[in-house]
Amino acid sequence: QATVHRIASGQVILDLATAVKELVENALDAGASVIEVRLKEYGSELVEVADNGAGISPDNHASLALKHHTSKLEAFGDLQALSTFGFRGEALSSLCALTDLSVTTRTPSQPAGVRLTYDRRGRLIGQAAAARAAGTTVSLKDLFKPLPVRHKEFLRHLKREYAKLLTLLQAYAIISTGVRLLCTNQVGAGARSTVISTQEGSTMRDNLITVFGTRTVGAMEALPSTAQGSRLIEGFVSRASVGCARSASDRQFFFVNGRPVDLPKVGKLLNELYRSLSTSAASASKPIAILNFVMPPDSFDVNVTPDKRKVFLHEEAGLLDSLQMVLQQAWGAAQS
Ligand code: ADP
Ligand code: MG
Repeated sequence: QATVHRIASGQVILDLATAVKELVENALDAGASVIEVRLKEYGSELVEVADNGAGISPDNHASLALKHHTSKLEAFGDLQALSTFGFRGEALSSLCALTDLSVTTRTPSQPAGVRLTYDRRGRLIGQAAAARAAGTTVSLKDLFKPLPVRHKEFLRHLKREYAKLLTLLQAYAIISTGVRLLCTNQVGAGARSTVISTQEGSTMRDNLITVFGTRTVGAMEALPSTAQGSRLIEGFVSRASVGCARSASDRQFFFVNGRPVDLPKVGKLLNELYRSLSTSAASASKPIAILNFVMPPDSFDVNVTPDKRKVFLHEEAGLLDSLQMVLQQAWGAAQS
């Protein structure tokens, strides 16, 4: 299929965070309102992502984890108008090569759930009845174990990989208003500890309080959400007069239409403007910032890198100008 070859690309799953990201995005694509990420040993032993979404219908079970199998893309033209997170059909097939993957799923119309297991090449090798409410659970056992060198690296840098995962989950927790996102971790025979827990039906401010705490959010303000043509910048920033003693670069989250992305130029503008407007006491600090750029699907391109973190913005200069205006408004008002 021509479609398949044009979007074919290299490695999708680079680390623990990208593995979990793909599963969380699949849950969001399935319309879930509750998503639970359950980890054992910080994700090295077991990662489970359970959702209450649409489930997977039986005609999809056999091909689910085959390369380039997706239920989300009808034609290449759809890439332009993309609204779901997934569209390459690469995540589950890539994961099969890296871990023992199983899927337990049930659609609302099925009388019971089924547990499906797949081999390294994504072929269905096992099916067994399983109790489950409607929705899907994907389990990854011993991530990276089939690649001994990668696995050793993973275990050696486990804390760092885990920290990166938490930052990523924070991004989804903040932006996924109306979705309950939970993350728990169990170490040894210890109790399961909850590391993230937002509420169903929550606003972005509620989610921010869950992630950062009441005190931090009290020092932040909502951006004046005025549309600039077909664009809208929404979010929260810490006040210029407050400053934040420690480096807050791990508390800057950028999104395009609710999709977490890396926007280095936005970060640079944000920090420079903040520094220039802050009082000298706070001049070494960076602002906390949550920025969601809402724009038409044809004004940007996420199909640039396999992990879809990089976006190509067709009118980047204009967007940065708009951002500068919005920030000056927010920080100018806060200082007077
Ligand atoms: P993509 O998301 O790009 O379609 P994936 O490899 O991530 O590719 O998933 C393959 C297919 O498996 C999806 O198109 C979807 O049909 C199904 N799927 C995966 N996870 C879920 C889930 N949590 N709920 C429902 N369907 C799912
Ligand atoms: Mg996907």
